Amino acid sequence: MDTITRDTAVKWDQNDPLRAFKDEFYTKPSQYYMDGNSLGLLSKRAESTLLQSLADWKEHGIEGWTEGKQPWFYMSEKLGEMTAPLVGASPHEVINTGSITTNLHQLLSTFFKPEGNRTKILADALNFPSDIYALKSQLELHNLSPEEHLIQVESKDGTTLAEDDIINALHSEVALLLLPSVLYRSGQLLDIERITKAAHEHGIIVGFDLAHSIGALPHHLHDWGVDFAVWCTYKYLNSGPGGVGGLYVHEKHLGQSPGLAGWFSSKKEKQFDMDHTLTPAETASAFQIGTPHILSSAPLLGSLEIFHEAGIENVRKKSLELTQLLMDLVHQELKSFDFQLTNPLEDDRRGGHVSLTHPEAASICKALKADGVIPDFRAPNVIRLAPIALYNSFTDVYDVMQILKSIMVEEKYKQYKNERGIIA
Ligand SMILES: *Cc1c(COP(=O)(O)O)cnc(C)c1O
Repeated sequence: MDTITRDTAVKWDQNDPLRAFKDEFYTKPSQYYMDGNSLGLLSKRAESTLLQSLADWKEHGIEGWTEGKQPWFYMSEKLGEMTAPLVGASPHEVINTGSITTNLHQLLSTFFKPEGNRTKILADALNFPSDIYALKSQLELHNLSPEEHLIQVESKDGTTLAEDDIINALHSEVALLLLPSVLYRSGQLLDIERITKAAHEHGIIVGFDLAHSIGALPHHLHDWGVDFAVWCTYKYLNSGPGGVGGLYVHEKHLGQSPGLAGWFSSKKEKQFDMDHTLTPAETASAFQIGTPHILSSAPLLGSLEIFHEAGIENVRKKSLELTQLLMDLVHQELKSFDFQLTNPLEDDRRGGHVSLTHPEAASICKALKADGVIPDFRAPNVIRLAPIALYNSFTDVYDVMQILKSIMVEEKYKQYKNERGIIA
């Protein structure tokens, strides 16, 4: 392979069809932000739709629910419609509400129906803790012990899952399967379609957590037959801290009552009848519970416009090129140090971030921050770097790797403690 120089990266930037989108975001000239997989940056358009909702409140008071420029009563549905192309669903299969964990509770309450011998939930040993806590508490609500009824597929290498191991664990006692689309540490992208088909052959309901894939890569949830999915929007979708979550339910399951009902589960025309018998919406709207958090939803309106203009296929293409460049530079620049790439190397098996391990990962992350790079540390030894297609350039990736190299060569990390901070 030819040596990669800064000029190579500059040329890629010149030919990058998405390069103009960087100006849509509040980036800092002195900072390389590589943490968009934890909290995406603010865009001018997200700021403007948030300010619009405040202006609607200022101008219309309560009438803002129906009269504002962005009527609040329909905002969750509007966001669902705008999100549908990103997950490969019809607008009525998607709604924005809650958070990953609350949406998971809602959909487990709706779709986990233990019966006879079919009482188990299959998950994996590498998922984010909140998902596992939700699964365990749902089992307990059914008086089923998690020790016996939660099966977690183990990882052989500690960082990735083998689809074959998941498929081999499917059997007639499993009622529901929940997996992440992309693993939060290693960035492994699972074969959602293959796993879903195999689970359906055993009559198992299939849910996916898209936290680390939505906004990073395209999905075809409806065509793949996935039963339900949940996600957050503050990571790759740049909706801001605590931004509203989202969920998808396959059309074939629509029309049934939500496990956790509230007045926002209503058919919209009926909601203000104030009837004590719920008439649930016949769309994914039925899985809402209470009043939507408008000020945590409004930024997503602007943010999704950007995705529509950029095109998720283009975002994925550039994201793969950025992570490939990063990995190539690890090989070229960091060979003599103790780094290991633990994300899958193939395009169709990796998500939007690169996962580097090093025994001194915590102190290296502190040194990176001191030098203007915002990485993401996961204890005990993982450095996640997420070059974001919409606001990171090829030159950013090149510069970050030079900074990392200088930290290693000059041993700058040695002045920091190899411990994590309160948020990491
Ligand atoms: C980020 C993330 C969460 C966080 O859940 P919230 O309810 O939005 O706080 C849950 N699961 C996964 C896999 C995540 O990556």
